[in-house]
Amino acid sequence: MKIAIFSCCKYDQDFLQEYNTGHDLTFFESALTLQNAALTKGFDALCLFVNDSADRDVLYALKANGIRLILLRCAGFNNVDITVAAELGIKVLRVPAYSPEAVAEHAMAMILTLNRKTHKAYNRVREGNFSLEGLIGFNLHNCKVALIGTGNIGKAFYRILKGFGCRIVAYDPYPDPSLVEEGLSYGSLEETLKEAEVVSLHCPLSEDTQHMINANTLKLFKKGAMLINTSRGGLIDTQDVIEALKSAQLGYLGLDVYEQESKLFFHDLSGDIIQDDLISRLISFPNVLITSHQGFFTREAMQQIAEITFGNADAFESG
Ligand code: NAD
Repeated sequence: MKIAIFSCCKYDQDFLQEYNTGHDLTFFESALTLQNAALTKGFDALCLFVNDSADRDVLYALKANGIRLILLRCAGFNNVDITVAAELGIKVLRVPAYSPEAVAEHAMAMILTLNRKTHKAYNRVREGNFSLEGLIGFNLHNCKVALIGTGNIGKAFYRILKGFGCRIVAYDPYPDPSLVEEGLSYGSLEETLKEAEVVSLHCPLSEDTQHMINANTLKLFKKGAMLINTSRGGLIDTQDVIEALKSAQLGYLGLDVYEQESKLFFHDLSGDIIQDDLISRLISFPNVLITSHQGFFTREAMQQIAEITFGNADAFESG
């Protein structure tokens, strides 16, 4: 098949070329939008990532260009209107699970960094400041952590947190019986948020979960609690989270994902003024850590993404 691959940087190309099963690949560094959808003419399939848009208008343009298949090289599919894709007969295949440990380990890294302030310590030591002023943390042993969503990533994270001796509570509309057997206790969203010192989000973005963390739910948090989001930016209302940081209701914030990340994330903008008011305000807080959607970014996960993506392409071709 002739496959157009969007949002594809050099590191991504290397993995995709290595695990290609004989398809004719064309790489575009830009994200797919309605404005550049004409680029898809002459291809059979597209390979998209989290920051490509395949909304209704884009899908109609793709259908007109003869696209039959969208291969998502990610787990979340909130950037594709799957109802319209089904109506148009465009098949959408994704990579439902690839190294959930990669994202879970990144969430753990964010907790440890924020808690033990290693990002600050790193900068200070380089400037010759070896004092401990302002670096005090808290033990994770016995700390209560709330998991919102216990699918592949939430489950992998549960096991890491258990190893650290955390007390873990969870909310998921579909509790996992195997985790209940391992001792995990589920509660309502409200109960779970109220109890925890650390809240970590691991559920998909949907109409139901859009802005699930907002002014009302933030009021339920323990004063000074930590919020970690490695799932999708739209799960939190960024404006409300900034207010909670200002009032110190929220003590720490770790974001690997952001509501408007396609404008910024994955790009090297060093030297430019960041043209995003909310990001500028967020990074002005010393207790906020932002990474550029890199939770998935390990060698093992990249290999699995490439293998599963081409497996999906081959399965589609063979009917
Ligand atoms: P999954 O489908 O295995 O699990 C999602 C879980 O969320 C399920 O158990 C589901 O029942 C639960 N859920 C659904 N609605 C919920 C709600 N309202 N409240 C609480 N839980 C709810 O997905 P996963 O593989 O664990 O991935 C979770 C999310 O992580 C993905 O949707 C994706 O957005 C994100 N992700 C991020 C990265 C990254 O690099 N940062 C990489 C992969 C995935």
